Amino acid sequence: MTKLTADTFDSPAAYSAALAEFLRSDPRAEPYIGYRAPNLEHAANHLRGLQALIFDEGWSRLGWPESTGGLGGDPRLRAAMFQTLWDLDIQIPEPFTTLEILVPVLLVFAPHLADELLPGLLRGDDTWAQAFSEPDAGSDLASLRTRMEPDGDGFRLYGQKVWSTFGHLSRRSVLLARSGGPGHKGLTMVLVDLDQDGADVRPIRAQDGENHFSEIFLDGAFVPKERVIGELGQGWAVAMYMLQWERGAWGWIQQGRFHKRLEQMLAWAPTDQRHSASIGHAYTLAAALRLHTRDTVERLAREETLGPEVSIDKLLLIDAETATWNTVREHIGARLETDPDMHWLFGEYMFSRAAPIYGGSLEIQRTLVAQRVLGMPRD
Ligand SMILES: Cc1cc2nc3c(=O)[nH]c(=O)nc-3n(C[C@H](O)[C@H](O)[C@H](O)COP(=O)(O)OP(=O)(O)OC[C@H]3O[C@@H](n4cnc5c(N)ncnc54)[C@H](O)[C@@H]3O)c2cc1C
Repeated sequence: MTKLTADTFDSPAAYSAALAEFLRSDPRAEPYIGYRAPNLEHAANHLRGLQALIFDEGWSRLGWPESTGGLGGDPRLRAAMFQTLWDLDIQIPEPFTTLEILVPVLLVFAPHLADELLPGLLRGDDTWAQAFSEPDAGSDLASLRTRMEPDGDGFRLYGQKVWSTFGHLSRRSVLLARSGGPGHKGLTMVLVDLDQDGADVRPIRAQDGENHFSEIFLDGAFVPKERVIGELGQGWAVAMYMLQWERGAWGWIQQGRFHKRLEQMLAWAPTDQRHSASIGHAYTLAAALRLHTRDTVERLAREETLGPEVSIDKLLLIDAETATWNTVREHIGARLETDPDMHWLFGEYMFSRAAPIYGGSLEIQRTLVAQRVLGMPRD
């Protein structure tokens, strides 16, 4: 096989066409096309094979800098990879979404960590979680209480995190802790190993029976000083920088899924004219999300800083995700909940109910748009 390099592809469209051809024709990709996960743990194990395949063949390394083990080239190739996978009905491995949020931050604030760790993440040999929220600190994140105390060549962590997506399947976590006084100026971002004494990760079972999240109890877990992301006390700035990917890049990845599910729903469930309004509504919102986040992805690729307007991406995502799964449920009906073959889709439906909460709640995003984008008074 020809070795892939950045100049093999003139455009994301050329890359997409070549990747689709590879996935359709290589028998090693077959187990991933149309794969339906019986549960999250099975998906994590199974899709690691896909990660290894497209890493070893070079596809997932395009769009990442060569210094980090990537093959260089336009960062929009990464966005094209996600769209191509959805178009072929291939589930995006969860670690891809996490690294698409976390690694761009490392490239700016801790390039040594991106250089060291990106290949393992991309290949599926390593998995990370994000541990910001605490039982008493969600929307009001700056009030978090997990402490970070100096110890020799590093720091020890004490406190409790909650709602870490895929925490129990992750080897490490990006974590926000308090290294100084109260408020956002006292916060620092670190990368902590979860497989050590002093870090106890306990899965939380959600209503669909799946372990979507974890609690993380920290009682002296050690973080070497090289694992600080940015400077001590710079954690809030790092977290705010991260939001561009958490809201923008995430929205792009998800819109591919919404389009695919709407298309599949029409094939799976007979529908008539009475339903056309709800399908049209969901499709319109998914299309709006696609257009807006495409622009966001282009701007991120040009290294523009987006600021608070990225809340618009999140608000469009909430509407599109909610409407897509409302219409899927309406059309598939009770089978969605009772048919074991539909369990994987029911999981997606249940997850969609959390769209107005995860990554920053609906109310907080609307307030940010009103105050920070439109300049309305804060009181
Ligand atoms: C599916 C999912 C995945 C998640 N994954 C992660 C993860 O990987 N890592 C992580 O750290 N966290 C994660 N979270 C946690 C998420 O970030 C928080 O749930 C979210 O920030 C809201 O915080 P909270 O749950 O404490 O609710 P609260 O902040 O207590 O909010 C409760 C309600 O009050 C409203 N509210 C709060 N403050 C205001 C205000 N000032 N003005 C108006 N309304 C307000 C909110 O909008 C919300 O409706 C996840 C959550 C979900 C649902």
